[in-house]
Amino acid sequence: MTTLADRPTLATALKRGWRRKCPQCGSGHMFKGYLTIGEACASCDLPFEPLRADDAPAYFTIAIVGHVVVSGLLALESYAHPPSWVQLSIWLPTTLVMTLGLLPYIKGAVMAAIYCANRAD
Ligand SMILES: [Zn+2]
Repeated sequence: MTTLADRPTLATALKRGWRRKCPQCGSGHMFKGYLTIGEACASCDLPFEPLRADDAPAYFTIAIVGHVVVSGLLALESYAHPPSWVQLSIWLPTTLVMTLGLLPYIKGAVMAAIYCANRAD
């Protein structure tokens, strides 16, 4: 049982969530698949079902990837004027890799933020 003194700060919970670990104890895994959450923490029994992130991780991921890709594309276009196939061959894979790479970590951090917002301090 977690006491009030054991409760993690928001920063600690976000770091744990980013690592896809339980925001409360930091040792149990929140995910049982790529984006599928488990039922509860194997270590502290925190239920993960109430930490529903819905579409928020996708919005944050789109915002981050969009800023990187669009600014990179525009910067490359303004400095080097490469052909379209060069732009596409750089930025389409970058978008795919960044999106699929960031999404589970951002989902974990969002779930940790929801955990901190929902707990009764
Ligand atoms: Zn836990």
